[in-house]
Amino acid sequence: MFEKSTWIKLPRNVVVGHGVLAETGAAVDDLGLMGRPLVVTSPTPNRLVGDAVRERLASRFPEPAALELERASFGAVDEVTERAREVEASFLVALGGGKPIDTAKMAADRLDCPFVSIPTAASHDGIVSGRSSIPEGDTRHSVAADPPVAVVADTEVLAEAPWELTTAGCADIISNYTAVKDWQLAHRLKNVEYSEYAGALSRMTAEMLVDAADSIKPGLEESAWIVVKALVSSGVAMSIAGSSRPASGAEHLFSHQLDRLRPGAALHGHQVGVGSILTAYLHEGERGQWQGMKRALSSLGAPTTAEDLGFDDETVIEALTTAHEIRDRYTILGDGVSEAAALEAATVTGVI
Ligand SMILES: [Zn+2]
Repeated sequence: MFEKSTWIKLPRNVVVGHGVLAETGAAVDDLGLMGRPLVVTSPTPNRLVGDAVRERLASRFPEPAALELERASFGAVDEVTERAREVEASFLVALGGGKPIDTAKMAADRLDCPFVSIPTAASHDGIVSGRSSIPEGDTRHSVAADPPVAVVADTEVLAEAPWELTTAGCADIISNYTAVKDWQLAHRLKNVEYSEYAGALSRMTAEMLVDAADSIKPGLEESAWIVVKALVSSGVAMSIAGSSRPASGAEHLFSHQLDRLRPGAALHGHQVGVGSILTAYLHEGERGQWQGMKRALSSLGAPTTAEDLGFDDETVIEALTTAHEIRDRYTILGDGVSEAAALEAATVTGVI
C-alpha cells in the first residue's frame, strides 16, 4: 500500500538581475496580493534602497508601512507582529540581510500572511528558504516557516554589499556537500527520509559554485548573479525536502556551537565553511573532498582556518567535540567526536 505524501512550498516569483528592484511592485502584484504592505528592514538597507522599494510598492498597493529593526530577536518578531496588526498590513516585505528576513519570515508565519524577500546581501541561503534562525541568549533558534512568496534579488545592489557577505554566502553553499553526506548517512543508519531530488540538486548547486569559484570576484555583478542563483537553488532543494537537511548538517551544528561559545564573532557562512572542511575530513579521511572545498574557499577569500575566523584553537576543538549535543539531527558527529579525533581532523586539514 502506497502511503507517502509530500507538500512542497516554493517561492512563486523569483526575480534576479540588474536593476530588478524596479520590478518589485510588478513581482508582488503578479501574485494577486492585495492590501497594505509592511516593509521590515534594517538601517543600512533602508538608507540605501528603502525609498526606492516603498515607491515601487506604492505604485500598486495602498501606502506601504515601514519598520526599521536594529537586530533579529524574538522581541523583534513581536514588534513586527504588533506593527503589522496596527497598520492592518496584509503582507510583509523583508528588505535587507539576515536580520530583517529571518524576523519577517517568522512574523509572517505567526500572522499567517505572505512575505516577500528582497535581499541586499547574498550572505546565506535563508534569503530564499523556509527556515528562520533567530538568536536568543547565547543560542540560535531555527524555526520552520513558509518560504517567501516572491524573491526580488537585484544584482546591482548585491554587488555593492561588503565582499565578506558574498563569500559567506558562497561558503554556505559549499557546505551543501557535507550536509548531503550527513543526510545520506542519517538515512542509512537512522532511516531518516532522504529525497534523491533534493540531495542531487543541493550537491549540484555546490559543485557549480566550486567550478565557478575562480570567476567570483569582488565588485563583479556577475559574481552576485552566480551566488544568488545558487542560494535560490539551495532554497528550492530545502523546499523539496521539506527540511533544511539538504543544506544543513554537522558543519551547521559546529557553527551553532561557535555561536554559543562566542556569539557574533564570525559570519554564519564563514563558520559553516570551516566546519565543512572538518566534517568532510571526518566523512572521508585524508584523501577526501575537503581539499577541493578548502581550495575553493580560499580562492574566494573565505576563511579556512580557526585564525581566519578569529577563534583560538581550543574554541574550535570545543565546538567540534560538543556540536552533536545541539539538536536531534544525526550526522557524522555521531554520539560525539573525541578530543583526540577532533585535534587530528583540525590539524590534518590545517584548520588549527
Ligand atoms: Zn547556512
